[in-house]
Amino acid sequence: MTRRSAIVIGSGIGGIACAIRLQSLGFDTTIVEQLDQPGGRAYVRREQGFTFDMGPTVLTVPHFIEELFALERDVAMLAAPDFPPDVLSDNPVGSDGKTGGPNTRRYVDIVPILPFYRIYFDDGTFFDYNADQAHVRAQIARLAPEDVEGYERFHEAARAIFERGFLELGYTYFGSLGSMFGVLPDLLKLGAIQPLFSLVSKYFKSDKMRQVFSFEPLLVGGNPLKVPAIYAMIHFVEKTWGIHYAMGGTGALVAALVRKFEELGGTLRLNAAVAKIDVEKRGRSHVAAGVTLASGELLAADLVVSNADYATTYLRLVDKVHRKINRDAVVKFRKQSMSLMVIYFGYAKRDGDPDLRHHNIILGPRYEELLTDIFERKILAEDFSQYLHIPTLTDPSMAPEGHHAAYTLIPVPNTLGQTDWGVTGEQFADKVIGFLDDRGYIPGLRERMVYRSFVTPEYFEQVLGSYAGNGFGVEPRLTQTAFFRPHNRSEDVTGLYLVGQGTQPGGGTPSVMMSAKMTAREIARDFKVDQRIVEGLPA
Ligand SMILES: Cc1cc2nc3c(=O)[nH]c(=O)nc-3n(C[C@H](O)[C@H](O)[C@H](O)COP(=O)(O)OP(=O)(O)OC[C@H]3O[C@@H](n4cnc5c(N)ncnc54)[C@H](O)[C@@H]3O)c2cc1C
Repeated sequence: MTRRSAIVIGSGIGGIACAIRLQSLGFDTTIVEQLDQPGGRAYVRREQGFTFDMGPTVLTVPHFIEELFALERDVAMLAAPDFPPDVLSDNPVGSDGKTGGPNTRRYVDIVPILPFYRIYFDDGTFFDYNADQAHVRAQIARLAPEDVEGYERFHEAARAIFERGFLELGYTYFGSLGSMFGVLPDLLKLGAIQPLFSLVSKYFKSDKMRQVFSFEPLLVGGNPLKVPAIYAMIHFVEKTWGIHYAMGGTGALVAALVRKFEELGGTLRLNAAVAKIDVEKRGRSHVAAGVTLASGELLAADLVVSNADYATTYLRLVDKVHRKINRDAVVKFRKQSMSLMVIYFGYAKRDGDPDLRHHNIILGPRYEELLTDIFERKILAEDFSQYLHIPTLTDPSMAPEGHHAAYTLIPVPNTLGQTDWGVTGEQFADKVIGFLDDRGYIPGLRERMVYRSFVTPEYFEQVLGSYAGNGFGVEPRLTQTAFFRPHNRSEDVTGLYLVGQGTQPGGGTPSVMMSAKMTAREIARDFKVDQRIVEGLPA
């Protein structure tokens, strides 16, 4: 076959996944990344013997990862079933305790995490959440007996949404309005269009259970009060395939994916910021021809995929004269997801430390009002909820002997709010660390802490180049879902594609891997890639 060349701007997990797929489809692919390390949000901070994953920590759907490690050059398997029939029952924990499939194991060790999350309420009680329905039922009976029966009904509703919304429609690319209207009646029937919190509130009476069964979209930038109830599928995705951890951290997974990409013959260039996507006018068409780096170097290619933030891609990288659909006003009109403050810290272990888990959600005194402060009013409230991650409980290699490495993540307004993080950041970090210490989550933390740093929305805006400092791209809400979400195939520029959390289907590591496959499929079709390759047969 004729070799074609592709450039992928950005090495987030979606960018690398797409690059692996393009390389396997036969394109000579180069990733150009502005930072000095691959991973994007999954960048790794290494300080004083501590290893901090700066972003994603909760891995789900390990067979998406396995699929990438199974790819070969010119054997792309894009037409293979997205969810093979055995996938629901085929997630064994090996005798070695690992959960990654056979191809994954050649590159990185993946292990299951239990409980999935320990969720603390403001009154100090907690809920251990895992896949075992009897266990979950017992927890509900202990904390909110009035909700046991509602849970059974919620479980069935979430299962139906998962089966239709994820197993059947998960890989549907909504490139046209018609494709969306075709599935709308089904989703309406399942109640998947209403806000998630409304759906959950129908089944649960207690505030605690309403929080437990609605907080998960926050991990992908969604406001539980606004995100469509199709996101109830997250509950079932986790229940079906578990929650996992890559030994050595998510950074080890990124390194493994890069290794796979390079073994397939791809090239990764770091410290290579793209200043402009080069577009040529050919007749009536505007056609992507390559990129210009900030250094002035020109890289020509037959197609360009941007893994950079959606808004940044159009506003900063594609000249206005080439944009009829994604005009400035349209791009800026879209709602951006919330942002985050993330505090990375290392502390000395102490005997008798409280019983925290690998993943802890610590909810504050307010829920709906706090969400409204963050997403709608865009004010930094006095109170906060947080996700406390302590990987050293699973993997001591992340910290020097006798120490824990941890991060705590607090949803905060994006930079369209008025917070001056230069002034507020340090005080807010003190407050959060003080809370963990004074409320007994990590007693004596202030004295025991040997390392601390943090990032604020300014990091997302200035370092990662995300418009308005969004943590997760455009906010997942009904009006920005499916067809209404930015398109993976540019409507403005032929040969320009997008991949990652700002595109379809959405944010989170499994979704960006799905987006990589959806984008690669569009490319395979547009470039008439040999069907034998698409079907996984040697060319
Ligand atoms: C703190 C945090 C915790 C999270 N936790 C989880 C979790 O536990 N589980 C989960 O599933 N998801 C989680 N997420 C979400 C998940 O991390 C993201 O949805 C996903 O990693 C985004 O991947 P992406 O491919 O869209 O690209 P990104 O990670 O956004 O990477 C984009 C890349 O493009 C590069 N780039 C931008 N502009 C240019 C340019 N002009 N030239 C060259 N390169 C450029 C950037 O430097 C960056 O490397 C978390 C996110 C954050 C921020």
